[in-house]
Amino acid sequence: MSLKDKVVVIMGASSGIGAATAKLLAEKGAKLTISARRMNRLEEIQKSNVGADILAVEADVSKADEVQNVIDKTMEKYGRVDVMFNNAGIMPVNNLSEVARQEWNQMLDVNVKGVLNGIASVLPIMREQKSGHVITTSSVLGYELLPGFATYSGTKFAVRAIMEGLRQEERGNNIKTTILAPGTVNTELVDSINNDEVREGLKAARKQPGAEMMGMDPEEIASAVAFVIDTPANMAVNEMIIRPTGQE
Ligand code: NDP
Repeated sequence: MSLKDKVVVIMGASSGIGAATAKLLAEKGAKLTISARRMNRLEEIQKSNVGADILAVEADVSKADEVQNVIDKTMEKYGRVDVMFNNAGIMPVNNLSEVARQEWNQMLDVNVKGVLNGIASVLPIMREQKSGHVITTSSVLGYELLPGFATYSGTKFAVRAIMEGLRQEERGNNIKTTILAPGTVNTELVDSINNDEVREGLKAARKQPGAEMMGMDPEEIASAVAFVIDTPANMAVNEMIIRPTGQE
C-alpha cells in the first residue's frame, strides 16, 4: 500500500512538526486524522488543504479516553489505522534543584503516558489488521543529556525504551516501529518553557549568526516522516536521528 492510500493519525498536529507532517501527507494523498487540544489550529490546517481527507479531533493525549475517541472516530470514518504518529510533546525544562513538580508531572503525562495512550488505542486494531506502523517522536535528548534538561531527556529516553519494547513484542504481528529523534527544530516548543531565562536564551541563540546550521525547519522533519511511512512492507526504519548539520 502506498502512502497515498494510508490512514495516518497525527497526535500533536496543531503546530510544528505535526502540522508540517499533516500538510505534506495531505499533499501526498494520505487519509489523515489530526489531533491536539487547539481545535482552531487544526481547523486552519483543514481549511488550507481543501480537497484532502482530513478529520480533526480534539484530544489531550494525557487522557486515555480522549485518545481512544480519536481512534474511534478514525475507525468510523476510514475503517482502519495504518500509522499512529505519537508526536505530542512539551518541554517545560528546569534544573532538578527547582523541584518543579508540576512540570515533572506534565512532562511525564504528555511525553510518556501520552505515547502509551496512543499505543494502547491502536494496538488491538493493528493486531487485527495484521499490519500497522507506530512512529513516536523522541529527540536527540533521548540519547544524550544537556544540563537543565534532565526531566525532558528522561521522558525521551523512556519513549525510546517503550518503542523498542513495542518492536520486540509486535514484530511478529507485522507492526513497524519508528523512533524519530530530531535535534533542534524551529517550532513553538520553546514556548512551553516557563523559566524565562532558559526560554529567552534559546530563542536568542536561534538569531545568532550561523544559527541556520544549528536548527531545522519542521518541513524537513516532515519529509523524513513521509520517507519512513513509505518504505516497503518488509522494511522498517526503527530509529532515525536527525541533527542540524552544525549541532554538537
Ligand atoms: P510544537 O510545540 O510546535 O508542537 C507540540 C504539539 O504537541 C502541538 O501540536 C501541541 O498541541 C501538542 N501537545 C502538547 N501538549 C499536548 C497535550 N496535552 N495533548 C495533546 N497535544 C498536545 O513543538 P514541536 O513540533 O517541536 O514538537 C513535536 C514533538 O517533537 C514533541 O514531542 C517534541 O518533544 C519533539 N521534539 C522537538 C524538537 C525541537 O527542537 N522542536 C527536538 C526534538 C524533539 P496543542 O497545544 O494544541 O495541544
